[in-house]
Amino acid sequence: MQFNIITIFPEIFDSYFNESIIGRAQKEKKIKIKAHDLRKWTKDKHRTVDDTPYGGGAGMVMKADVIYKALRALRSKKKKEKRKIVLLSAKGKRWDQAMAKKYSKLDNVIFVCGRYEGVDERVKEFIDEEISIGDYVLTGGELGAMVMIDSITRLLPGVLGNKESAKDESHSQPGVLEYPQYTKPETITAERKKYSVPKVLLSGNHAEIKKWREEHKKRS
Ligand code: SAM
Repeated sequence: MQFNIITIFPEIFDSYFNESIIGRAQKEKKIKIKAHDLRKWTKDKHRTVDDTPYGGGAGMVMKADVIYKALRALRSKKKKEKRKIVLLSAKGKRWDQAMAKKYSKLDNVIFVCGRYEGVDERVKEFIDEEISIGDYVLTGGELGAMVMIDSITRLLPGVLGNKESAKDESHSQPGVLEYPQYTKPETITAERKKYSVPKVLLSGNHAEIKKWREEHKKRS
């Protein structure tokens, strides 16, 4: 699966994506992530990607013509490819696990990361979906693209080992959250109080442990 990110800060992605599960998925060629500098598609001396808003007002708006050129260059010509172009936006549809599952069936996702006051409204003519990662305003779309890529990649076949399986995780069934997890030591002391692991988890009785975990999953 391919992820193409259009951004004015392509270096932002490296340290996160080169580590852990996402780093491994890239090395094993299960995914390919490429961050493209939007300024590559500018022609002027200053490599301008933004301008003042029509009608006045605060801040700058990212230019639709430059974003369109980037999208035209990155849209693959492969007819059979399942692809979506996403605009990250605080005004978009809220991202969730069910959407991550749908996206994990695609071959290519192109992300448009806004900055400043956002992007020229006409960019919406060239995208498939406008997505928000939550009801708050971020400085740029890059964190949104990272959240989406991370949550999609975990769901791709072979990315998580058996031990890390996504099957029983929170949200794998709608409205169900994972049971509580504990590790050694068996008891910890904090502020002179003792906190112990539930006895059933130490019992070695797999049927009882399964039952306890089932009972302690949160359901909304
Ligand atoms: N003026 C815009 C508004 O009020 O909706 C906010 C612009 S924000 C400072 C700059 C960029 O960050 C946006 O164009 C978008 O790409 C990204 N962004 C901000 N909040 C986001 C969110 N909740 N989810 C995804 N992207 C977001």
